[in-house]
Amino acid sequence: MKMIDYPKSVVIEEQGLRDGLQRETKVVPTEKKLEIIEALIGAGVKRIQVASFVNPKIVPQMADAESLCAGLKKHDGIVYSMLVLNQKGMYRAANAGGRHVTASISASNTHSQRNAGMTLNEARRQLAEMVAVGKKKGLTVRGGIQCAFGCRYEGRIDPDTVMDMVKEQLDLGIDEVELADTTGMADPRAIQEICGPVRTLADDKPVYLHLHDTEGKGLANALAALQVGITHFDSAFGGMGGCPFVKGASGNIATEDLVFMLEQMGIETGIDASKIAAISRSLEDFFERRFSGKMHHMLNRDDIATIY
Ligand code: ZN
Repeated sequence: MKMIDYPKSVVIEEQGLRDGLQRETKVVPTEKKLEIIEALIGAGVKRIQVASFVNPKIVPQMADAESLCAGLKKHDGIVYSMLVLNQKGMYRAANAGGRHVTASISASNTHSQRNAGMTLNEARRQLAEMVAVGKKKGLTVRGGIQCAFGCRYEGRIDPDTVMDMVKEQLDLGIDEVELADTTGMADPRAIQEICGPVRTLADDKPVYLHLHDTEGKGLANALAALQVGITHFDSAFGGMGGCPFVKGASGNIATEDLVFMLEQMGIETGIDASKIAAISRSLEDFFERRFSGKMHHMLNRDDIATIY
């Protein structure tokens, strides 16, 4: 039997502070977010999405984006990423001292209209302007495609549309690609059919896969992606998260679950899953509810024997 070649190491961008928190109504104070960021760095996380520059009336949890960015400590080798969805957000991120942004648009026309108030074509034009501004301001830009594997309104997205958008964004000069399964509708086969060619198209630029576990396929999709050469992933502590604009879209893949699985497979992440689990548990206490991830209930717990 032919063995599959797996990568030696994987890079993970922690999304908990943005994707994880954005739909929560109980607002996390800026000071606490900054503490979580330091704890994540202490756990070995090198890339952290800290905020999104969106309308604070629609996403109150992100209203402190500017003051949060002002409070970020400088650490060597740590990338703070910020999400922007339109030109205004790009300017805000640059003015807040951002160095790295994800400029993200949807591959679904209906989702784009409902979420961003733009048709797909308008969004694509706007993205070109966003990338131009980001580059002019000296930022590194990760191009992002939401709903790359499916949309609750439109169903399966034509892979040719996704390929076309990736190519367009690469031509604009993005530094990294992000494919987001915003709705958690992807399956391992679709992951391989899209990620494989995108990996080839992106050449030496990293391709990040942003997975949601809405339908329980999150880690299976991560495994499928590893098999076609994807070595960059987004995940969120505790499996928090979900797009507030997409019905039923809840839960990123949990960072500690992903790290734990990769570790068992002999793939390095540089992240201590137990420390992430502790962050997740403290946030469960803060929000007074259980998160959908698995390993934060189990890692480094005195009552582990009773779980097994
Ligand atoms: Zn997401």
